Amino acid sequence: MAKRIDGKVISKQIKDELKEEVAQLKAKGIEGSLAVIQVGNDPASSVYVNNKKKACEYIGIGSISYELPEETTEAELLDIIEDLNKREDVCGILVQLPVPKHIDEDKIIQAISPKKDVDGFHPQSVGAMTIGEPGFLSCTPAGIIQLLKRSNIEIEGKHCVVIGRSNIVGKPMALLMLRENATVTIAHSKTKNLKELCKQADILIVAIGKPKFIDESYVKEGAVVIDVGIHRNEENKLCGDVKFEKVEPHTSAITPVPGGVGPMTIAMLMNNCVESMRGQK
Ligand code: NAP
Repeated sequence: MAKRIDGKVISKQIKDELKEEVAQLKAKGIEGSLAVIQVGNDPASSVYVNNKKKACEYIGIGSISYELPEETTEAELLDIIEDLNKREDVCGILVQLPVPKHIDEDKIIQAISPKKDVDGFHPQSVGAMTIGEPGFLSCTPAGIIQLLKRSNIEIEGKHCVVIGRSNIVGKPMALLMLRENATVTIAHSKTKNLKELCKQADILIVAIGKPKFIDESYVKEGAVVIDVGIHRNEENKLCGDVKFEKVEPHTSAITPVPGGVGPMTIAMLMNNCVESMRGQK
């Protein structure tokens, strides 16, 4: 029977470990806060921002939030980031994406000091990850590695197919699986014979951004399936990129949506904040 990989339980384990470490750091006089900046009031972003604040509270670090109006200029945002880069009490800076269209997202990402880039999106963090140097890892892919490891799923030598090549999920995911000694194939919208390719995967990681796209015909019997997608269906319920009910019986392990990859992203964000605090030692 397929094992359901429980992201809620695993993310709680990680947050509990971090909570303990934060208490130890505090005892040594090391504290820190995560600065979260939201521009505009996109409701989905507000939910994510709120969850991040709650997670900070849970593990015992501070959070400073900036809720800026939609018309905030790029220069104003860059000034705030520059200020936060200098503040010693701030261990991490996160700008909730997407930002409004009049703001250049790349410029914003690059303005954040790599020492406080807890989202792991800065080109320096991405470069460090690529060559195996220390640096912040992109949270969702790093969370998936934790899900696999903490579920005792072997990665080394396995064929992993990652569907999607975005900068925040697909590409870093493929690199992290490579770092864990998987043999990695990256598929995207121009890939030919997607189904045949996916059927060769021991571990199939789906970050395609299309609700319930992957059914059982894409999955090798006994494969591990990780569903990164998050969508709201017609009934306003959350679903992933995978047709869970159809695919689950053919897998050895699978992540549900919700309760799979989603909770791990915030846990790994907290991990990066604590990592930044450790760096102050
Ligand atoms: P994205 O930027 O839209 O990227 C989607 C990728 O899928 C692209 O690389 C695209 O290829 C590829 N693709 C699209 N249609 C395809 C097809 N028919 N066949 C093969 N490949 C196809 O999305 P993303 O930001 O990576 O996110 C992916 C999903 O994960 C979304 O549902 C998002 O909401 C979710 N997500 C979840 C979390 C979490 O915490 N759980 C975090 C981030 C994202 P091209 O490059 O050729 O266009």
